[in-house]
Parts: sequence; C-alpha cells; structure tokens
Amino acid sequence: MAFELPDLPYSYEALEPYMSSRTLHLHHDKHHQTYVTNLNNLIGDTDLKSKSLEEIVQATANDPAKAGIFNNAGQHWNHNLFWRIMKKGGGGAPGGELAKRIDDAFGSFESFKEKFKTAAVTQFGSGWAWLALDGDTLKVTKTGNAANPLVEGMVPLLGIDVWEHAYYLDYENRRPEYVAAFLNHMVNWAEVEAELHKGLA
Ligand code: ZN
Repeated sequence: MAFELPDLPYSYEALEPYMSSRTLHLHHDKHHQTYVTNLNNLIGDTDLKSKSLEEIVQATANDPAKAGIFNNAGQHWNHNLFWRIMKKGGGGAPGGELAKRIDDAFGSFESFKEKFKTAAVTQFGSGWAWLALDGDTLKVTKTGNAANPLVEGMVPLLGIDVWEHAYYLDYENRRPEYVAAFLNHMVNWAEVEAELHKGLA
C-alpha cells in the first residue's frame, strides 16, 4: 500500500508564534508531501513496496544505490515523529519514567537540554538532533540529512528538524532561537514518553 501524508495532530496555527502557520503549510503540505510522493514513486516497482517504513529505512541505509529511496523514506519517518512530538502549549518538563531516565542518563533535565541544544545547533548543514533509546539508556545524537538513529539500532523518541525549511521563515539564520523555542514551548513530553514506552515494549 502506498504511503500517505499524515494530517497534523493540531491546527496550522497551533504552534504560533513559535512556528508559524506559513512554515507549517510549506513544511507539511509541500516538503513532507514531496518526500511521500517521491518514496511511493521510487518503490513502486520494487519488492520494498510490501515493507514497513522502518524496514525500508533500515534496508536502504548505507546502500549508495538506494540513496534516493533512503532519503525520502528517512525523511517521511522523521517528519511523522516530528509532527507528533509537538503541541500547542508544549515545553515544560517531562514526567514519569521519561523524567527518571533523563535524570539517570544526563544528570538532570537542564543538562539534557544543554546537550540537545548543542547537538541541534552544531549539526552542520541539514539534519536532525535526537533523544534516542539505545538499549536501556537514553542518548542525544545528531544526524545529517535524512538519517536517524533507527539506522544505528536505536529508537528515536524526540527529534528536531534543523533543515532550514523548518525554521528559516520564522527565525532566518537564528537556529539557536528556534531550538530554544522548540524545547521551551513546543515539545509534547507526554507523546515523547509514549514513544519511550513503545521502545521499551
Ligand atoms: Zn523538514
């Protein structure tokens, strides 16, 4: 079955003023839609069309001959998570099992935030910064272009898109401001904790 663009789980205005309706329309309706369309076109005649998105990402990673499929599949997967882990009135601090594991891995929520911000700001060019589950432990990582921690056998829980299409209309070149706004006003920690429980299951 062909892959489809998921609806946003909130209105296009929900994240304003931190992420504008204009950015969400372009980012979701144009950029994400293009990845989905390209992916469907590229796998149309291959045996990958019967695979799950995760299987396609893992099967095509590190295969130069399948870079086009990997880039579009990875970006489809990454954006699916990205939309889900934001909400109107987000930010604040996580609770429950996620808070405990963040403290265990990073010492405190504040030091996690610093580590995540550094990863997001220092990702050179396009890519993503992540909070991921590696076995039993949480890690902060960054990846270029369409790559994600699935490729390294980890489970991504939270990802921030640092491609310019994610922030340039709202923040121009001020990526650190965008990353701070994401952490302080947009992250849906309940959804990130749900991803943690899926990853532990
Ligand atoms: Zn994007």
